Amino acid sequence: MADDDKVERVVPPYQTPKGVHDILPEDQDFYTYIKKVVRHRARQAGFRRISTPIFEYTEVFRRSIGDTSDIVTKEMYTFQDLKGRSLTLKPESTAGVVRSYIQNNMNQLPQPVLLYYIEPHFRYDRPQKGRYRQFWQFGFEIIGETDPALDAQLIQMAFKIYQDLGIDALFSLQLNTIGTAEARKKYMQILQDYYAGKERSLCEDCKYRLEKNPMRLLDCKVEDCKILASLAPKMTDYLDKESLEHYAELKGYLDEIGIEYTENPKLVRGLDYYTKTVFEFWDKTEGAQNAIGGGGRYDGLVELMGGQPTAAVGFAAGIERIIANMKREKIRVPKKDELHVFVAQLGNEAKKKCLGLIEELRENGIKTMGALGKGAINIQLKLADKFKAPYAVLIGITEVREGTALIRDMKRGVQESVKMTKVTDRLVELIGEENLDKYDPGELLYS
Ligand code: AMP
Repeated sequence: MADDDKVERVVPPYQTPKGVHDILPEDQDFYTYIKKVVRHRARQAGFRRISTPIFEYTEVFRRSIGDTSDIVTKEMYTFQDLKGRSLTLKPESTAGVVRSYIQNNMNQLPQPVLLYYIEPHFRYDRPQKGRYRQFWQFGFEIIGETDPALDAQLIQMAFKIYQDLGIDALFSLQLNTIGTAEARKKYMQILQDYYAGKERSLCEDCKYRLEKNPMRLLDCKVEDCKILASLAPKMTDYLDKESLEHYAELKGYLDEIGIEYTENPKLVRGLDYYTKTVFEFWDKTEGAQNAIGGGGRYDGLVELMGGQPTAAVGFAAGIERIIANMKREKIRVPKKDELHVFVAQLGNEAKKKCLGLIEELRENGIKTMGALGKGAINIQLKLADKFKAPYAVLIGITEVREGTALIRDMKRGVQESVKMTKVTDRLVELIGEENLDKYDPGELLYS
């Protein structure tokens, strides 16, 4: 057990478990905005949203991600339910989406089936900057087509989303092909032969990987392993013709649509199900450490999971890392929950009038908060300032008597008296029709 994983005594006041955190209101705006961009780009391209359960039978992940992968060997939150079934919190979504594709006979739909998700995932990772035990990913899956034009389109989609979010220039697209499963088997044997006799120079993880999954030795981050990997036989020299052609075509399409890439023969990705295309978006300064997303082709997975042979390609990106990079770039997102109006009152009669007014303002799309507790009017105004409301409505004894209200411009410190029946209209004028938070439940229901 690692030092930082020592079991802590859990006593009040409670903290979140290690590696997970609250998404506080300040950050919700980022999540909302990113989801909006993803949904928009997905809809434009005909993708439909899917949510698979937070937990699946453990076997779903074991079989798809692979018994020797880091995720399955050390990063899954696996538990037994009360009937002793082994369940696992999803560490990624492709496995669940493929399970769902098969379970729901999506092969009967027009192919390819285009799906996207925005979901939380769980990995028992070592917590550090940009690495958490619960994190959000959005991702896209195109199931039912082999053509490399789709790989190119998927990469373009990822790129467009990064562009929309203002962070595309920070990342470089790393591209590789890892061939078909058969070609890879042959190459793995060649790698094992190359490493034979060099085991003593490998880290403990790589010693284990050498037997189970030698491709993973190529992207080990330990210095000695990196040196050996740089001298190892190159995968591209042992690939099958079909994969090489697929790769050449993909590069042709990327050139055509003007997407820059770096060919990286050491990129393998950590999951067993990939075939042919693999790609990752690496931070230009920090490299793989702070990758923002990645994906690849998984032509064998549907069959491996019990379906018909079906080609597919997918991509996933980490939302927390995107937010960290947006903040690094000082990118601001619209703050939808900022108040428009703060209603302050003095006296019981005024309070009664306020209740109706607050309701009316809200119904008209004006984001309104009222100080309905007791307190001097100047204290209430200070609150209006603290809540950063640009306008305050003040109703005191005189206003009740005269059937009016004061509208105060909080920034300019000026106020005007308005007839109670005209308060909403005047505020709409001041705030601007386009800034109102209006919705029509009927429209929502039928759209
Ligand atoms: P992967 O499929 O493992 O490459 O994950 C895709 C993306 O999800 C990565 O590029 C990261 O942006 C993000 N990601 C993966 N694991 C974590 C984690 N433990 N914490 C935060 N983000 C993660």
